[in-house]
Amino acid sequence: MWLTQLLERNRQCFPARLALVDDRRSVTWAELDARTAELARGFGELGIERGDRVAVLSLDRIEVLESYFALARLGAVFVPLNHSLAVPEVAGIIERVGAVAVLGESALLDRHTELPACVRIRVALDKPVFTALGTVAADTALPVIPDSDPVAVLHTSATTGQAKGVTVDEGSFRAIALGWLAVARPSDDMVLVNCCPLYHGSMVVSLTYLAAGATVVLMPGFTPQRALAAVERHRATHIWLVPQMLRFLLQAKASHSTDLSSLREVLYGAAPMPLDVYADAVDRLGCGFRQVYGMTEVGGPFVTLGPEEHPAPGDAGARIPCGRVIPGMSARSLGKDGRETARGEVGEIVVRGPGLMRGYWNDPAATEEVTVDGWVRTGDLGFLDEAGRIHLVDRSKDLIIRAGQNVYPSEIERALLTHPAVRDAAVVGIPDEDFGEVPLAYVVAEEGTEARTLLAHLGENLAPYKRPRSVEFIEQVPRNPAGKIIKKLLREGN
Ligand code: AMP
Ligand code: MG
Repeated sequence: MWLTQLLERNRQCFPARLALVDDRRSVTWAELDARTAELARGFGELGIERGDRVAVLSLDRIEVLESYFALARLGAVFVPLNHSLAVPEVAGIIERVGAVAVLGESALLDRHTELPACVRIRVALDKPVFTALGTVAADTALPVIPDSDPVAVLHTSATTGQAKGVTVDEGSFRAIALGWLAVARPSDDMVLVNCCPLYHGSMVVSLTYLAAGATVVLMPGFTPQRALAAVERHRATHIWLVPQMLRFLLQAKASHSTDLSSLREVLYGAAPMPLDVYADAVDRLGCGFRQVYGMTEVGGPFVTLGPEEHPAPGDAGARIPCGRVIPGMSARSLGKDGRETARGEVGEIVVRGPGLMRGYWNDPAATEEVTVDGWVRTGDLGFLDEAGRIHLVDRSKDLIIRAGQNVYPSEIERALLTHPAVRDAAVVGIPDEDFGEVPLAYVVAEEGTEARTLLAHLGENLAPYKRPRSVEFIEQVPRNPAGKIIKKLLREGN
């Protein structure tokens, strides 16, 4: 009911204010509340029932969120899919969740002519059939859906293995939204430009702003030009993006004269923020910065660092801390012995609280693997400082153990990025007869740069045991849409 109550409350409080905007149209809170009730009845008439999974295959547009709210009103489960997945990958997910319906943009649906047998219903979101759904349905009462019913299955970005379906309920969303409302204080006078795709767990950030009555602006895929234009056109106060997008945005801003004076805060997260991007952004945007640390399995964003706590670029040291856990959730760092580590000591970050997922879809073994005594293991290595702020050091799966010593690839990547000829870098561990594992660096550099120059640079900045065995030049570091390096691909290349 939480999502439905959010709509009703915002319709009562701000009926004529914009709830959602995309590149085609916009809807007010009054319209969104009415349309999602209508659509829920329309979905019901198509045969979608409480508990049914409905896959959604679309670029970000208003109809995607309308469908999410409508499915929630019906008690059906929203399963947004990454539209760039290959045909067999989409079929695999649909089969695993047993989706009865697929909603999508016709161009994308057309690529998936043969869907698994579980799919009985297909609806094109961009056709008049969708607009007509529910418009002649009887005005019957919609069911009361408890917050403990599954509401969505979100697929993780899978930088380390196959995408896993994370089941969340409205109770999870309520917990995250309340914590977020208490610290980040989204409010109804805000306009947030959402650059992160709605099929990812990061969508929960936008939902928390919607919960407060803010307007959310959607884009059919990120381009820096689109994002800049959206901020200017809608006088956006907030923008939500990943660090890589911020880098592109700053590059594009250099050649466009865009008025970004309405921006109050840049929200960034999902991947570590490179310090050069941060320094450039502080210098050129003149607004506040808010970091978001989240994870799909934890229900979304559970840690944030507000603008008042952001270090000046020169004082940031090796990295910006992620921030404190939101009220209602708790996090700690666990050592190898399973005990909480001392302040400042690196361990695995684990999280507990009502925001957590209900589990992986239909996979109790995987759920058990990721949970210890009710805490979800993030797979992130980090520590808490004296002020309770979490600092991330690396992903545990990416950690390189060289002759028993821990080598953090992110530390080598940062050292490489301090060289002026280096544009991007990724470090992975490769098997080694003598040391077990050693680092190997993949670098995108200016033409003519030599490996020995970079190795010498690392030699001046890092202890000998951390130095990569070699440097290989590549055209581009493989990244997923969230800006995370797909290290799996680099390791496989060896
Ligand atoms: P996902 O499962 O796709 O939601 O990705 C969650 C993972 O993204 C986390 O476990 C972290 O490794 C990474 N991540 C998210 N936010 C941040 C952040 N602010 N800084 C660094 N890494 C992050
Ligand atoms: Mg993950």
